[in-house]
Amino acid sequence: MAKQTKYIFVTGGVVSSLGKGISASSIGLLLKSRGLSVVNIKCDPYINVDPGTMNPFQHGEVYVTDDGSETDLDLGHYERFLNSILTKEHNLTTGQVYNTVITRERRGDYLGATVQVIPHITEEIKNRIKHFEKSENPPDVTIVEIGGTVGDIESLPFLEAIRQMGLEEGRNNVMYIHVTLVPYIRTAGELKTKPTQHSVKELRGIGIQPDMLLCRSAKSIDDDMRKKISLFCSVPMKAVITAEDVSTIYGVPLNLHAQDTDKIVCEHFGWDLPEPDIAEWEKMVETIINPQKHIKIGICGKYVNLKDAYKSIIESFVHAGVTSIAEVDLIWVSSEDIKKHGAEKFLHDVDGLLIPGGFGERGVEGKIEAIRFVRENNIPFLGICLGMQCAVIEYARNVCGLEDAHSFEFYRDLKHPVIHLMADQEGVTDLGGTMRLGAYPCKIEKGTKSEEAYGCNSVSERHRHRYELNNTYREMLADNGLTMAGVSPDERLVEIVEVKDHPWFVGVQYHPELKSRPTNPHPLFRDFVKASVAYKENKTANSQESEANVSK
Ligand code: GLN
Repeated sequence: MAKQTKYIFVTGGVVSSLGKGISASSIGLLLKSRGLSVVNIKCDPYINVDPGTMNPFQHGEVYVTDDGSETDLDLGHYERFLNSILTKEHNLTTGQVYNTVITRERRGDYLGATVQVIPHITEEIKNRIKHFEKSENPPDVTIVEIGGTVGDIESLPFLEAIRQMGLEEGRNNVMYIHVTLVPYIRTAGELKTKPTQHSVKELRGIGIQPDMLLCRSAKSIDDDMRKKISLFCSVPMKAVITAEDVSTIYGVPLNLHAQDTDKIVCEHFGWDLPEPDIAEWEKMVETIINPQKHIKIGICGKYVNLKDAYKSIIESFVHAGVTSIAEVDLIWVSSEDIKKHGAEKFLHDVDGLLIPGGFGERGVEGKIEAIRFVRENNIPFLGICLGMQCAVIEYARNVCGLEDAHSFEFYRDLKHPVIHLMADQEGVTDLGGTMRLGAYPCKIEKGTKSEEAYGCNSVSERHRHRYELNNTYREMLADNGLTMAGVSPDERLVEIVEVKDHPWFVGVQYHPELKSRPTNPHPLFRDFVKASVAYKENKTANSQESEANVSK
C-alpha cells in the first residue's frame, strides 16, 4: 500500500509577523531529525502570481530557488532549517490558483458548470497541496503554512481547503497548529490570553479545531495560564506551547523540542520514532550565543530601514560568523547619505563592506563612493549582483579612467556602458518572471580568492538579473587589475570579479546568500567574514604598536 502522507497546517492569529515561517521550519527540522522525509509548502493569499514584481519595502526579500522561481522569503527559512532544495511547487498563491482555474474555464474544461470558490478554487488549492503526495517519492509529512492571519478575507479559501482536508484525509492524518500571540500588558504587569481565545474562536468558526497552540510571548507563560488557554481553546494543556522570544531564530527548534512539541506531533500521527539528532544544531546555536570576536560590517543599500528586504544576507552573516566564532554587527548605511556626506563619515570604522543587489538608479552614486573608499583603504568587500555591477563601474571610472562609465540600466545613451543588457533580454517587455533566474553553472579561475573559498573550479549559483558586465570592457578592466575570477562555462558571461591587489575584494553577479545554511555557511560569506576579522585584528595590532612607539 502506498505511504500515507500526513499533513501539518500552520495558521496564524491575532497579528502578522509572529514567526509562522520559523515555527513551520523548526517543526520540520525536528521531524527531519527524527528520520522523516519532510516537505514545506507556503500558501500566500495575495493575487500576485508570485512576489517577483512586488516592492521589497512591502513584501521583503524575493527568494529565488534553483529552478528560477521567485518565491516568498519563508521558503528561505525552510531551505535553511531543513537544508532542502525547493521549487515553484513549494509556494502557491491565490494568483496562481485563479490563473489555473480561469484558464481551464476558458478551455471549456468545466463542461458548462458555474465555476465557484467552493468547490473549484478549493479543489485546486488541495491539488497543489497534495502535489508531493502524488510524486514518486511521497514525503512522510507535508507542512503547509497559510500566510496572513485568521480573519483575513483573502485567506478564507485556503482555510476552507485545509478544513476539507481534515475530513478527507482523516483527522489522525492531519494536524492543525495555530500560532498566536499572548501579549504582555506592561501597565497591568500581566500576560493576556484573550486575543488567543478570540483567534481560536475565529478558527473554530471556520470549522477548524487546532490540535496545538504555539503561543508567542515576550515572557514565559506559566502553567496556570496555559491551563486557562487549554480550557478556553479546547487544546490539551501539553499542546499549549510557549514560543518565547529568543535571541536567535535558530534557538526556536531547541525551545520547541524542550517542550515536547515534536513528540506531541509524533503521538498525534501514531509515530514511534527515535529522539531527534540535533547535536550539530545545538553546537551551532551555542556558538551564535557565545561569540568570541566582534566585527562591524557595513551594508549600504536602498532599503536599509526594512531588514526583511535583506533577510538571506543577514542570515548568511550569522552562519559565516559561526565558523569564525564571531558576531557580525551589521551597520546599515543609506547610500543616499553617503552621497550627501561622503563615505568616510559612515565607513571609517567598519571591518568590511557589503553592497547587496538592487534595482533602480536611486542611491547608486553613494554605493560607488562607498566601494571606492573600501577599495582604496584595503577594507574587505563583497558585492552582490547590483553591488558587483557598481564595483565594475567604480573600477572603470577610478582605475581605468573611464569617467562616465555607468550601467545601461540607468542611462541609455552612455559613452561607456560597462554594464549592459544581456543579449537575451533585448525586447523583453513583461516584468514578471523574465529575468535571468535561478541556478546557472560558473567556472572559477585558478589562483583567485573565489577558488580559495569554494575549494573547486566549478559551482552552481542562483541568479536574478537583466544586466551584465559588458564584454567590450573585459580586457581593459583585466589589464588594469580587475580579475574575471568566474565566468559562465561558455565564457560569455562574467560571474565574478576580483581586485588583484586587495586583501579581499570580490563581486558576484549571482546571489550567494540564497545558498548559505546555518551549519554550512556559504564559502564566500565565510571567507569575507574571515577577511574582515583579520582586517580588524591587523588594525588593532597596528594601533597598539603605534601607541607603544609613542610611549617609548
Ligand atoms: N538591477 C540589476 C540587474 O537587473 C541587478 C539586479 C540585482 O541586484 N538582483 O541586472
